[in-house]
Amino acid sequence: MSLRPRFLTLVLMFALASGIFHAQAARVTVIEGVTLIDGTARGPMQDAVIVIDGARITQVGARKAITSPQNATIIDGKGRFVIPGLADMHHHLLSGSTFPRPNRQTHLRRMLAVGVTTIFNPSLNLKDFAMLKAAAGEDASPFPRFFSTGPMISIKGDLMAALEGGASPETPTDARAVVRDLKAAGVDAIKVMRDDMSWGTKQKLPVMKEDVLKALVMEAHQQGLKVFVHAPMSKYAKESLRAGVDGLMHGVIDEPVDQEFIDLMKRNGASYVSTMTLFNDMADFVGWAHRQAPNWDKAGFQPPRLYDDLTSARSTQQFASIWTNAASVKEHLPVQRANLKRVFDAGVPIVLGTDTGFEGILIGVSTHIELELLVDAGLAPQDALLAATVNAARMVGREKEFGTIERGKQADLVILEADPLADIRNVSRIYRTFKGGVAYEPVDVAKTVPRPQLLPVK
Ligand SMILES: [Zn+2]
Repeated sequence: MSLRPRFLTLVLMFALASGIFHAQAARVTVIEGVTLIDGTARGPMQDAVIVIDGARITQVGARKAITSPQNATIIDGKGRFVIPGLADMHHHLLSGSTFPRPNRQTHLRRMLAVGVTTIFNPSLNLKDFAMLKAAAGEDASPFPRFFSTGPMISIKGDLMAALEGGASPETPTDARAVVRDLKAAGVDAIKVMRDDMSWGTKQKLPVMKEDVLKALVMEAHQQGLKVFVHAPMSKYAKESLRAGVDGLMHGVIDEPVDQEFIDLMKRNGASYVSTMTLFNDMADFVGWAHRQAPNWDKAGFQPPRLYDDLTSARSTQQFASIWTNAASVKEHLPVQRANLKRVFDAGVPIVLGTDTGFEGILIGVSTHIELELLVDAGLAPQDALLAATVNAARMVGREKEFGTIERGKQADLVILEADPLADIRNVSRIYRTFKGGVAYEPVDVAKTVPRPQLLPVK
């Protein structure tokens, strides 16, 4: 009687101990023989080894310099390439089509299938904000890292901002109160609208008063929050930079940027979020749908009928009725492309962002196409990758945590079947995405969530 319980206890203890041991052992992964593109200024390293223990990278480097742990899961990296996990820093977690309002949590998870391990959403209602923060909070949660400004601060009559619960303060005092409320809600940064929209529509909208903008930026900085501005026009971008903003959520499209612009960007240490997909989509809505089509299969979760819906007369007419100056956007595409290159050449950090979720910019595929557009604009593939990795981490002040493949960093990385430096389109040839040390197979991530509801056939 006295021995048996003791024996059982011992068995139980052993089982528990070995269970724990196995749980830990299962979390050690070694990627062997891979070509490492680590997201630093270093060039690629062949036959590299990466050791992942739990959520972090514990060793990385040339094979001979690594002591491989026992009982690790081995991934054969021969002939494969590894890059840091990608970031899309202007992403609304909407599908980009007129499908019924989606579940943003589903969309966030799906981004792992296309190698995206970090998302920044610059206009989001506080209910969804809290839901996504809770879901993506743990390093090992099956979601990309999630950053957001919550609702953006705009002016009265801005329906897109209002849709997500955005405030429209009219005095400096109101602006400060709005920022404090957002801080209390736990937002990662502040987003503000400064645009008369004349680059995309024929009807000019009013813009926020300058003293309101200044108060808002000052309060945000006092609260330890960066401020990112929607200002695709040079004049408003410069006004915002003079007020102290920390980044532009779109490239500048209306005219060539000048030296004053560059100087202000550098003074503020500001990030330049590209959103070239947005401008291309607006310039030629149907043409853009065609451009995205070849990437849909690779992303693995775009229903083919979404394409039909997007290019239907109903959809294109609706788009044209809102964006009444598409001709001007098309005419100015070369300007925004040249601006991106000029800003890059001046040493300002370019950050990848797509504005995914905006009508016609499809989730998943557009992040990869944005990389292509950065290369089209004159960036080397290596620099386009920096825009989607370490520069993105820096934008939210988290470069010590992720954005490069280095010892001690979060194990957020993508294993590719082909060399992205030889052809940036190879970024879509994903073998595995790792986020917080957990491996995801693209097909699984795409499949394990329900497909969006299809609209009735026209
Ligand atoms: Zn946006």
